[in-house]
Amino acid sequence: MPDSFSKRVTLLGSTGSIGTQALDVIRSQPGKFTVTALSAHSNAELLIQQAQEFRPAAVVIGDDAKYATVKAALASQPETEVLAGAAALADVAGRDDADVVLTAMVGYAGLLPTVRAIRAGKTIALANKETLVVAGQLITELVKDHGVGLYPVDSEHSAIFQCLVGEEQNPIEKIILTASGGPFRGRTREQLAQVTKAQALKHPNWDMGAKITIDSASLMNKGLEVIEAKWLFGLRNDQIDVVVHPQSIIHSLVQFEDGSLKAQLGLPDMKLPIQYALGYPQRLANTFPRFSFLDYPQLTFEQADTSAFRNLALAFEAMGRAGNAPCILNAANEIAVAAFLRDEIGFLQMSEVVETSLARVSYLAAPSLDDYVETDRETRRIAQELVGHS
Ligand code: NDP
Ligand code: MG
Repeated sequence: MPDSFSKRVTLLGSTGSIGTQALDVIRSQPGKFTVTALSAHSNAELLIQQAQEFRPAAVVIGDDAKYATVKAALASQPETEVLAGAAALADVAGRDDADVVLTAMVGYAGLLPTVRAIRAGKTIALANKETLVVAGQLITELVKDHGVGLYPVDSEHSAIFQCLVGEEQNPIEKIILTASGGPFRGRTREQLAQVTKAQALKHPNWDMGAKITIDSASLMNKGLEVIEAKWLFGLRNDQIDVVVHPQSIIHSLVQFEDGSLKAQLGLPDMKLPIQYALGYPQRLANTFPRFSFLDYPQLTFEQADTSAFRNLALAFEAMGRAGNAPCILNAANEIAVAAFLRDEIGFLQMSEVVETSLARVSYLAAPSLDDYVETDRETRRIAQELVGHS
C-alpha cells in the first residue's frame, strides 16, 4: 500500500454501535485516518470522551439541551467547535475539511445530512440504510450528478460491492441477500404474538443498536436492505432474492449472466465492512479474528417465512409501489419500533402499523425532497395515532 494513504473522516452518529466500531477501526490504523467531525444525538458523555481523544474540528450534539455540557467540557480544546441541533449536523456534513462522511446515525435523521454531504462532493460511507430506503432514487441521482462515491457499510451490501470489484463490464443477473433470520427464526405467528422486547433485543450473531436489532427480529431489516440494494446496485425488483442463512458467514452473493455465483465470507464483525468502506479501494491490513471452516462445519440455508414475518413482504410491496411508498414504510416502522421498545404495542402489531400507514398516507409517484419530508411527517402523525398517541 502506498504511504500516501490518508483520509479525513466525518463520523455522524459516532456514539452508536457503528460509530464506536468505526472509531475502533480508525484507532487500529494509526496515521491513516484523521477525524474531522463527530456527532451524537444525546450521549454527551461519550461524545466528549471521543472529542478529547480524536480532537476533531467540530462536534455536534443533536439535543440542544446538552450543548452547554459539551461546550463546557471542551472549553480547554479551542480547536474543536461545539455545535447543536439537526441543522448544524447537516452543515457539518457538508464542510470542506473531510474526504469521507460516514453516516452512522439511525433512521430518517440521516437523509438531510447525507444530501448535504453529497452536494458538497463528499465520498459517502453509508451505514444509514434508511436514507436509501426513504429516497433511493433521489440520492442515487444526486450521487451521479455530483460524481461522488457511495460505498456501503451494511455487511450484505459490502459483500455484494466486494464481489463486483473487477466486474464492471459484466451485468448482474441477480443478487442474493443473506439473512440470519434473527432470534425468532422458525416461530409461528401465534408464537410471535407472545414474544417480548427483551427476547427481541437478543440477536444471535450481531451486537447492534436497538432499532436495527428489533428490525432484524421482525425481518424489516432485510426488507430495508432489499430496497437499499436496489438503489446501490441499480437493480430491477425481480433481481433481488433473500435466503435465510443462520450462521451469518456468507454475507451475500452475486449471480452473473453465465450463472456463476460470487460470495463474500467472513466472521460476523462490522469492523471489516466499515474498514472496507473507509479504505476503498484499498484493503488495509488488520488483525481482526480470522474465519475458519473448522469452527463452522455446517453452513445452512432456508427460505424466509414472509407469512409469519409480514414486514419482509410489506417491504417488497412498498418497493413495487415505488414513489413515496418506501418512505411511508420506513417512517411507520420507526414509530412502530419505538412503540414496541416502550412496551406499548406487541411484536405483530408493528407490521399492522406499517400496513395501515401504507394504505392511509397519500401516495406520490414522483416525490421531490420536500415531498419526502412531508410524507415522513404525515406518516409519523398517522402511525402515532395507530400506536395510541395523538
Ligand atoms: P445506534 O442506535 O447504536 O446509534 C445511532 C447513532 O445515531 C448514535 O450516535 C446516536 O446518538 C445517533 N442518533 C440517534 N438519533 C439521532 C437523530 N435523530 N439525529 C442524529 N443522530 C441520531 O445505531 P447503529 O449504530 O446500530 O445503527 C446506525 C445505522 O447503521 C442504522 O441506520 C443501521 O440500520 C445501520 N447499520 C447498523 C449495523 C450495526 O451493526 N449496528 C449494521 C448495518 C447497518 P446517541 O448515542 O446520542 O443516541
Ligand atoms: Mg445488514
